[in-house]
Amino acid sequence: MPACRIASIRVLLLILPLFTACAHIRTSRAVDTQPQYELTTAAPDADVPVVRSDEVVATLPLEDVTAEEAAAFKAEAVRLVDHPDPNCRRLGDAMQAHLAGLRMYENALVRYVGPYKFYGVGHSYQSDGDWKIRIARRLNDLNPRTLDEETGTLRHEMSHTLGARERRVGEEWSARDYADRCA
Ligand SMILES: [Zn+2]
Repeated sequence: MPACRIASIRVLLLILPLFTACAHIRTSRAVDTQPQYELTTAAPDADVPVVRSDEVVATLPLEDVTAEEAAAFKAEAVRLVDHPDPNCRRLGDAMQAHLAGLRMYENALVRYVGPYKFYGVGHSYQSDGDWKIRIARRLNDLNPRTLDEETGTLRHEMSHTLGARERRVGEEWSARDYADRCA
């Protein structure tokens, strides 16, 4: 099968659950959600730009998780299950439950907002009751991310399966809190 054919099938497989995700309204049951993203920038206080589902589809060919990444992510889940903080233990449980839905994409999704450049390095959404977690391997062609950085994104994105939001609300941990405090 030619590479372009494979690529178009991959894109189609990605488009379908995203269309499904957009068609549903959030309820208390396990339902589809909008994609959520980890965005990194030199100016963390800047407003986080909204990334549309179709941008993800158009620009990010997905790849399977490598053996090295899989080993690192599984080790992270095992480590967190014994963490002294109960929130981090819950995060470890979430990883055990959702690692099978994890995929990588090659380059981060770049967005410009005013003077700031953002790199979308991870996203997560729920489709048909299953969580899809995506992590970027590189910021761009010249800047690969380390396994540690990918694992930090894993903590961030997996925390969304526990209901964590991008911004802290009261005493509830944000996704960034999970990524930082469980490191
Ligand atoms: Zn997030």
